[in-house]
Amino acid sequence: LRPIHIVGGGLAGSEAAWQAARHGVPVILHEMRGVRGTEAHKTDGLAELVCSNSFRSDDSEQNAVGLIHAEMRMADSLIMRAADANQVPAGGALAVDRDGFSQAVTEAIEGHPLISVIREEITGLPPEDWDQVIIATGPLTAPSLAEAIAAHTGSDALAFFDAIAPIVHFDSIDMDIAWFQSRYDKPGPGGTGKDYINCPLDRERYEAFIDALLAGDKTEFKEWEGTPYFDGCLPIEVMAERGRETLRHGPMKPMGLTNAHKPDEKPYAVVQLRQDNALGTLYNMVGFQTKLRYGAQVEIFRMIPGLENAEFARLGGLHRNTYLNSPVLLARDLQLKGRSGLRFAGQITGCEGYVESAAIGLLAGRFAAAERLGEPVLLPPDTTAFGALLNHITGGHIVANDEKKRSFQPMNINFGLFPPLPDGALRKPEGHEGRWRGKEKSIAKKRALTERAKVDAAAWLE
Ligand code: FAD
Repeated sequence: LRPIHIVGGGLAGSEAAWQAARHGVPVILHEMRGVRGTEAHKTDGLAELVCSNSFRSDDSEQNAVGLIHAEMRMADSLIMRAADANQVPAGGALAVDRDGFSQAVTEAIEGHPLISVIREEITGLPPEDWDQVIIATGPLTAPSLAEAIAAHTGSDALAFFDAIAPIVHFDSIDMDIAWFQSRYDKPGPGGTGKDYINCPLDRERYEAFIDALLAGDKTEFKEWEGTPYFDGCLPIEVMAERGRETLRHGPMKPMGLTNAHKPDEKPYAVVQLRQDNALGTLYNMVGFQTKLRYGAQVEIFRMIPGLENAEFARLGGLHRNTYLNSPVLLARDLQLKGRSGLRFAGQITGCEGYVESAAIGLLAGRFAAAERLGEPVLLPPDTTAFGALLNHITGGHIVANDEKKRSFQPMNINFGLFPPLPDGALRKPEGHEGRWRGKEKSIAKKRALTERAKVDAAAWLE
């Protein structure tokens, strides 16, 4: 069998190599560290963790990242195997000894008879005679390769930073206060004129909100020092610093909106949320990219009427990050449209985090191996964490609307990416009669989603 070439021996590339090799397909892994470093990596080890040593929650019954751990373990993931073998105490989280973890991955890859590791920088698009390739060069992809990818895919197809607005679970928005309406009732492409959720602020609340933004705890942004902000991506607290009215004339402008609950009261300012996935379970806060610290974000955004009890699927942020406009560029099996056999994996596809990157590496490795072996490429079901994440990246669930596709932003796995449960799927605790109490319903929902996912993942892997 001819080898699969994998570029980048990080979390995704190492996992992809392992998956292909365990299916009997030879792999050549090209990793530049050893010859050229990145700004964040400190060693030459494969799968180096550049920052935290945590793989986050390991609870596979009530947490979406814990669920993806479980699915990866079912698929004999090398990253999970090395993490489990190098655990350090961290309560319900899976945290690892970073050196032991990287060493375990490096030894397993370098010791595998079907895998060769070459320490070299790949400086352009892979040659045509590499007929099966996975590019997994991560958020810090070396510049010459990034430029080659950008030249091939088009200038706005590769981003070099992410500017993320917070995303809210729809069922945590108080629709007795907020209402559906597009500005001036305009139906956008495929829209109804009621495409946005609107949260009204009176003058007093607006002023209090601006005060909180100005006083809010900001992240130290060393990596952004001296970086000019890009048009259309100013953090809201920077807009607020430019003048107290700036937001009211920008993302919080009230024009063309009438409060459906109080038609006679003209809102002084409005926060709009736009549907973020086709399921309608997630909404993003339009224009609210921010570098406020996470704790401050939750506190300040819950001051907005209608969002007092908001649950966030992700909070806002601004980072150096090289990633593709994957919903437009990649097919569901992670191949670059128009160049068969060339796949992308890991954070460069627009997933976020060590675990998610490794999970996408796992899928890319299996897909490429299947193709090399002449077998059908079977996609994971939507109901699994694998499938939910793949859908987020390749746009299976993203609202079919060009504006949305252009504004694709990375995201961690979360329950908002899963298709809803069928009616009647929620079970009350044993002996429990009557109404749900406290968080019972939300816990039952998470348990039902994870149970369904594990059954479907097992069947898919079978
Ligand atoms: P990486 O793990 O970065 O692997 C990419 C590999 O490709 C690297 O080994 C690199 O040397 C190699 N490479 C790049 N270009 C070339 C080339 N041209 N030729 C050959 N090899 C090449 N995630 C978390 O979950 N928790 C965190 O705390 C966290 N902190 C982060 C802090 C920073 C500063 C950054 C940049 C990212 C952080 N992330 C964090 C995100 C994290 O980096 C990724 O989630 C994860 O490492 C991505 O995996 P990957 O395999 O896609 O990329």
